[in-house]
This record gives sequence, structure tokens and C-alpha cells, in this order.
Amino acid sequence: MEGKIVEGKMPEGRISEEKMLEGKIALVTGGGRGIGREVALTLARLGADVAVNYSGSEDAARRTAQEIRDLGRQAIAVRADVSDAAQCEAMFRDMERQLGSIDILVNNAGITRDNLAVRMSEEEFDRVIETNLKGAFLCMKLAGKRMIKKRSGRIVSISSISGVHGNPGQINYCASKAGVIGMTKCLAKELAGRNVTVNAVAPGYIDTDMTAVLSDSVKDAILAQIPLKRMGNPQDVARTVAFLASDYAGYITGQTILVDGGMGI
Ligand code: NAP
Repeated sequence: MEGKIVEGKMPEGRISEEKMLEGKIALVTGGGRGIGREVALTLARLGADVAVNYSGSEDAARRTAQEIRDLGRQAIAVRADVSDAAQCEAMFRDMERQLGSIDILVNNAGITRDNLAVRMSEEEFDRVIETNLKGAFLCMKLAGKRMIKKRSGRIVSISSISGVHGNPGQINYCASKAGVIGMTKCLAKELAGRNVTVNAVAPGYIDTDMTAVLSDSVKDAILAQIPLKRMGNPQDVARTVAFLASDYAGYITGQTILVDGGMGI
């Protein structure tokens, strides 16, 4: 029965879930807190060694890295503002020296600076594009170069349903997250011949610091639009990222999976 696929079941005898990512080296940008933290821990539980990137939250990143080491994996916390090319290059060199060469990149770092389009400042627009879009590009480029040489790799970027459907007050954020989906399709085509898959995950409303600022009335209005009748949690997103980073998703590339409780139906 080695590898035989029975309808409705996963391939048997090939992949042990606890070891699904054993020997893999992952970088999670913004991995110290929120969705990124849960992604870093989930990849580690499946066997990966993880570089936990942060820009400002050093304590949180160090705690996440320690939790990963407590699981018996290797982990480092590594500082870099993902919108800065030189800092990203230094981060990749650091990671390579301490953990080895990258197998999995998760572009998770992201910010919001919400405002109506007619009121939005150039600074609010630029900062979000630089972090969410350019930051993902810089890491894709650095990871892509290394993965081409290895002839294998997985790149997963966190987009958003805002980038799929649009959302008032988020013209900068929507542009950045739609851009991530475009870059994902482009890079998937560029790297497919080298056995590197490139995908995106578009979360709906997930319970983290980013959404904690929403008022109760806004949260109630959002909940009313979610068929599964709850906000998502970081684990909902992390498990989808882990799937895309694993051998289970070896024939999926250039795709965006919505993790939104059915909001987009
Ligand atoms: P969060 O709790 O606010 O965390 C944001 C993370 O991004 C932090 O770890 C932060 O690290 C990091 N970050 C921000 N700017 C950075 C920079 N310049 N360089 C490196 N890291 C940076 O947000 P979250 O909800 O976990 O969001 C994670 C991702 O999911 C984001 O891309 C977000 O757009 C996306 N998303 C979230 C939701 C949601 O409902 N929560 C929905 C759709 C998409 P530092 O604190 O160290 O700066």
C-alpha cells in the first residue's frame, strides 16, 4: 500500500505527520507574535528548524524561538526590517550561518495604516506598500536565489481577503495584499521548473493584535458576514501554511487559499 491514494484519504506509508518537515529550515517574517508566531510553532511541531524574524518585538521573538528549542528543534530570533534590502540580506546570511540554507519562506510580516483614500497621506500609503509588498519581494528574491540552487523550496506569503475583495479605508493595504497575490503567480511561473512552489494564504478576520483595535460594533458586523460564525484564530492560518509548506501540497503552485470562514462565498 506504499503511497497508494485511496479516495478521501492521504497517501499511506509515506509521510509521518510529526516528521513532515523534519530536516527543513524555515524563515518566518514577523514570527514573534500573532499569526507569524503560530506559523513558526506549527512548522517546528512538524519538525522544521525556524528563524523567527522580528523588527521591533525582540522579547516576543526570543520567547517564540525559545519555545521552539523547547520542542527539540533549532531556532534563532533574527532582527530585520523587511522593507530594508541590506537588513534582509544580513538576515539571510545570519540564518544560513546559524541554521543552514533555507527550504521554506513564510512572508508574514505586515502592517495596516487605515484611512479613507481621499484622506490618506503619502507616508501612510508608502509605509504599508514598503512593508507588505516590497518586504515580501525582497525575501522572495533572496530565498528564490537559494532555492533555485537547491532545486527545491516552498514560498508561502500571507495575503488577505482585503486584497481579494477590497475593503473601504484600506486602499494601501488592499493594494499591497493584491500585489502579493500577483507576485505569487509570477514567481510560481518563474520557479516551477526548479521544483520550487510559491503560494499565498488570504486570511479573513483573525483574532490578533491587528484586529484587536476594531470596535465591538465593527466586529459584530464582520461576524454577521461569516458563514462559520466565528472569527478565525492564528492556528487556522498556520495549519494552511504548514500544508502548503509540506509534501502534501507538492502539486500546488501559484494559488491563493482563502482562510476566511466562508466570508467570500
Ligand atoms: P500582528 O499581530 O500585528 O503582527 C504583525 C507582525 O508583523 C509582527 O510580528 C511584526 O513584528 C511584523 N512586522 C511588522 N512590520 C515589520 C517589518 N517592517 N519587518 C519585520 N516584521 C514586521 O498581525 P497579524 O494579525 O499576526 O498579521 C500577520 C499577517 O497576516 C500580516 O501580513 C497581516 O496583514 C496578515 N493578515 C492578518 C489578518 C488578521 O485578521 N489578523 C487578516 C488577513 C491578513 P514586530 O512587532 O517585531 O515589528
